[in-house]
Amino acid sequence: MPIVRVALPVPLPQLFDYSSQDACEEDVGRCVRVPFGRGEKSGVIVALVAESELDPARLKTVRHIQREVAPLPADWLELVGFVARYYHAPLGEVIALALPPGLRRADAVSDRESDPLLDLSDAGHAALAETRRPSRALALLGELRAAGVIRRSAARELPAGAALGDALKRGWVVAVRGTDPSQPAANRPELTDEQRAAVDAVAAAPDGFTPWLLQGVTGSGKTEVYLRLAERTLAAGRQVLMLVPEIALTPQLESRVANRFPAACVVSLHSALAEGARSRGFVQALEGRADIVLGTRLSVFAPLPRLGLILVDEEHDASYKQQEGVRYSARDVAVWRAHQRKVPVVLGSATPSLESWQHARQARYRSLRLDARALASTLPAVRRIDTRRLKLDEGLSPQLKGAIGERLARGEQSLVFLNRRGYAPVLSCPACGWVSHCPHCSANLVVHLADRRLRCHHCGCDTEVPHHCPVCNNQDIQPFGRGTQRIEARLAELFPAARVLRVDRDSARTRSQWENLLAQIAGGEADILVGTQMMAKGHDFPQLTLVGVIGADASLHAADFRAPERLFQQLMQVGGRAGRAHLPGEVLVQTEYPDHPLYRCLVKHDFDAFAASALDERRAAGFPPFTYQAMLRADAPMLKDAMDFLAHARRLAQEMAPAGLRVFDAVPMRLTRLARRERAQLLVETDERGPLQAFLVYWIEVLRAQRTPRELRWQLDVDPLDV
Ligand code: ADP
Ligand code: ZN
Ligand code: ZN
Repeated sequence: MPIVRVALPVPLPQLFDYSSQDACEEDVGRCVRVPFGRGEKSGVIVALVAESELDPARLKTVRHIQREVAPLPADWLELVGFVARYYHAPLGEVIALALPPGLRRADAVSDRESDPLLDLSDAGHAALAETRRPSRALALLGELRAAGVIRRSAARELPAGAALGDALKRGWVVAVRGTDPSQPAANRPELTDEQRAAVDAVAAAPDGFTPWLLQGVTGSGKTEVYLRLAERTLAAGRQVLMLVPEIALTPQLESRVANRFPAACVVSLHSALAEGARSRGFVQALEGRADIVLGTRLSVFAPLPRLGLILVDEEHDASYKQQEGVRYSARDVAVWRAHQRKVPVVLGSATPSLESWQHARQARYRSLRLDARALASTLPAVRRIDTRRLKLDEGLSPQLKGAIGERLARGEQSLVFLNRRGYAPVLSCPACGWVSHCPHCSANLVVHLADRRLRCHHCGCDTEVPHHCPVCNNQDIQPFGRGTQRIEARLAELFPAARVLRVDRDSARTRSQWENLLAQIAGGEADILVGTQMMAKGHDFPQLTLVGVIGADASLHAADFRAPERLFQQLMQVGGRAGRAHLPGEVLVQTEYPDHPLYRCLVKHDFDAFAASALDERRAAGFPPFTYQAMLRADAPMLKDAMDFLAHARRLAQEMAPAGLRVFDAVPMRLTRLARRERAQLLVETDERGPLQAFLVYWIEVLRAQRTPRELRWQLDVDPLDV
């Protein structure tokens, strides 16, 4: 009987052999269900082998091979193999992450066209040509004619979309087969000179792998460049993979892409999709029917037989790096994949990661620049407000309050940006010094006055706000410091006629809440926004002309060496929300360090100067991208167990350490206690990537063989973001 080698989602770095009556070479890459332990597991066949190391009599038999779906191609198996090797994760776990659960369980995948392409029928054209009494259905026909072929979902969104049912019933509108997926909608804009130059540069490059860094200021029209590049790729009969950092950003982009390419099959993939939809999208990609796959980091694993272009929007965004399980960076995997498949990859951002910016400076990536905004004439004016001698009103300076008042008078929107949600970061008792600690973490419970709760933002622990100090019974306990809810409350008092809207993870918990908030803002139903970093990303708010930044100084002196980079990116991004359309924008940054170089670069919108100086500091201090790092983390109910394990791991590392490997001391993590577990970490580092990878292979193998306390867990993080 043939023997198949199967990758299963178990935390062991090994593959499992099973016999099968009828398996053949074509089954490599197919999903299977197999008996495992006392139950059943599903995985993927990665090879057909002639012989197993196991006694043939003891081999168990495959239960079911999923043959209704095409097998995963060899290049896909290579991709997950690379991720398993590079991040030192078991292959079965990488596959479990990469495959939609329904597919892996070898369920049947329903595949119905749910959103047909529509066009006017001959009768529809005739109806339009006749002079009739105006009606909703005729109005819709006019709109449809202007739009060209269009998806049913998009047709419903048209101003007269409510008449779609009527028009279909009359036979004026019919479902059609799309012919050319690259055929763009009629209303696309003329490119600016800079956009044209960027598109031409990519078009002129020889076929094959070229990494590009598209550095374009906020509002410069990077998306338009992506769309034009996608159009070329589709016209060549190939598929486009487009990565975005956050689910919250997908709806806007999804409709923009679908509206631009009405005849293309656009599939979106992210973890919030229902299982059936995710499996269906994955299979459409696998079978080559999807023309554009758009999604968050996990869509980097979509199989794409006709792949021709990879786009990574907001490439600097930390959410491309998975922070649990297989700790991969979707951006880095995307670049590897482009190399593997010999296609171009475009990394776009107004504020590139220092890693990518450095690659571009060294000409390892080619540079594309958009230095001017597409619509607005100028970038917003950025001003510092020196708060050292000011009396602040709940954190608000007189200048900021004045500027908000002016916007109100003009009917424009303002945003107060503060990266801290809740009412206040802690509740404390002035009499005895009690503070609201989380019982499970080394963090404070945050005051949420909106629903009168104390919440831990790390473990989710949630209790009622007490009426008096639990230690000394003092009634006069005080929220200390400021969060978005407190600013929201104060702004509502200061500007009673204004509509104040808070936008943070508490007010936008679900996708539909988030979409509602966006619609409210876009519809001009809010005058003053109070928002966290959620507001910093990718959105266009034409009426927003003022951004006030408060509480940014905290990041200047944070312990994490990446904190200034993140702060600069955030401030440039959030500042970029101001004055996107035809109204000029202004950004006011409240600070006690107005002369700090970071703020000076910000005022000049000079990302390059900031990046160059930040990289100089990194080089001097020996930080990435000048060194390569891996972090071993351990956690246990008792800190001692975690520290002992890491100390042992450290000794092992030193025994086997190749020349040039630096092994640091094991230290408790900054947030040591999280959800009743104590955490510690151990950093290893080299000047070259190769020796680090070679060392990790052996180290991990030895570590896996160690006996550890039952409650101890450990993981390795290659290229960690938080050090
Ligand atoms: P970015 O992603 O670089 O911040 P966007 O792609 O969102 O910028 O573009 C900013 C705005 O400019 C959008 O409203 C977009 O429709 C508009 N825009 C982009 N390119 C053009 C162009 N060539 N002509 C007219 N408007 C454009
Ligand atoms: Zn007290
Ligand atoms: Zn907690």
